[in-house]
Amino acid sequence: MNNKFYITTPIYYVNEKPHVGGAYTTIAADVLARFHRMKGDQVFFLTGTDEHGEKIAISAEANHKTPKEWCDENSAKYEEAWDVLKISHDNFIRTTDSKHEKTVVKVLEQLFKKKLIYPGTYQGLYCIDCERYYTPKELVDGKCPFHHHDLVTLSEDCYFFKLSAFQDILLKLISSNEFLIEPQERKNEILGFLKSEKLEDLAVSRKKVKWGIEFPFDKEQTIYVWVDALFNYLSGIDWDGDIKKLPKFWPPEVQLIGKDILRFHAVMWPALLLALELPLPKKLFAHGFFTVNGQKMSKSLGTGVNPEELAVTFGADSLRWLLLSLFPFGQDGDLSESRLYDKYNSDLSNGLGNLVRRVLTLAQDGSEFASSKIINVEFKEKIDSVWQKYEKALDGLHFETAIAQINDLIFFCDKYINQEEPWKLSKTDPDKLKNVLYNLLESLRHLSCLTWPFMPDKSNLILESLGILSQEHKKNLSEIKKFGEEKFEKVSQGKVLFPKIESVE
Ligand SMILES: [Zn+2]
Repeated sequence: MNNKFYITTPIYYVNEKPHVGGAYTTIAADVLARFHRMKGDQVFFLTGTDEHGEKIAISAEANHKTPKEWCDENSAKYEEAWDVLKISHDNFIRTTDSKHEKTVVKVLEQLFKKKLIYPGTYQGLYCIDCERYYTPKELVDGKCPFHHHDLVTLSEDCYFFKLSAFQDILLKLISSNEFLIEPQERKNEILGFLKSEKLEDLAVSRKKVKWGIEFPFDKEQTIYVWVDALFNYLSGIDWDGDIKKLPKFWPPEVQLIGKDILRFHAVMWPALLLALELPLPKKLFAHGFFTVNGQKMSKSLGTGVNPEELAVTFGADSLRWLLLSLFPFGQDGDLSESRLYDKYNSDLSNGLGNLVRRVLTLAQDGSEFASSKIINVEFKEKIDSVWQKYEKALDGLHFETAIAQINDLIFFCDKYINQEEPWKLSKTDPDKLKNVLYNLLESLRHLSCLTWPFMPDKSNLILESLGILSQEHKKNLSEIKKFGEEKFEKVSQGKVLFPKIESVE
């Protein structure tokens, strides 16, 4: 019955500090992972660090470290950051893990046997920051389209992968959605590329890069970092390179990436998998670019915004919610600190936090409205519709729409309180009061479950105040979604969930 759900983020380049762009992808993946766990799926969520390449060796030397020491130190920073942000990955892969290295070597040996890798000479324009060659057509004003600096002409003996052999099959699989690329603009971008340009074979070894996995048939060379890195998605679920023994979680349900690495994941990666005759990921989703306070984020210039600092200001739970509510996932958008403050105060402090406080204050003694004999049809219908739209939104990776549904239910409850004026009912109609409070407590239970993938700890605090924390986590989703069956016998006030934060200008 349980569906498998394998989700990946990119592995982050260990030479850079954890940045808000990577935090954004990873939080989104975590929300999906938690949502699928709530649905009862068997989830595997993979993230990690990318640790080979010339730039890492250069930075290590500048810091008087060995490359491995440098990687250990920096990889630990990612694990710490993900810990702060409550990322619930099932494995953290590092491309310097010897198991990963062995898998990659085995992959190349098999491609060589299949004659899909051959020796040759490469000459081209190389960006040291991207660690890849560019064709003249890909340049912008003669410069790297991402780093905007000049490229160097390099010529080297190396080995090639027959990428050109996969052009037609990639076109077919992508246009038919057998290999689904989302959003549509990204799919169009890749189809446009594959229709207008002839794929050239890919140099998969490097002579000048010393910090890398040794190339199996030529000890002078190392394996091209992108080929090395992409196979983390298989080695991270314990694949040893044997194509007859695929791990249970392969293929991924969804691979989340930023659109800057779309081509690697939409062309090179599926071609390598096709070459090995392995199934392709079911969906590749590329989210948009961030600007921060209106300015373009640049990896090599540093990021400006540190996700751990933001988590200190807003709290990790709130930050997770805020980042995903700012703009539609998949589109470009701006991360402005003033909008974070505004949304924190409107959605969380005045929204959810205020509603929870109002209801719990009204329901001082839980035992009186432990259960309701009358199911309020209006509430039941509202909550059913919220769940339906919420699930559809998260299945489609529309995090902002799922959040909007939660906000809509909060608004509905606030309106109901204002209409029913329960504070007057204790004198005029105590029976009705019990029913009104029951509807509200039951709605808080639904709200806490709806927010769980986004804000796991705040959600648990609400459940704790409702006196149902442990029992709620034992339910499956269809039990959770029912209205009117829960009993609330131990309601307590709890602490303020989202204290107001003043913006510091
Ligand atoms: Zn570049």
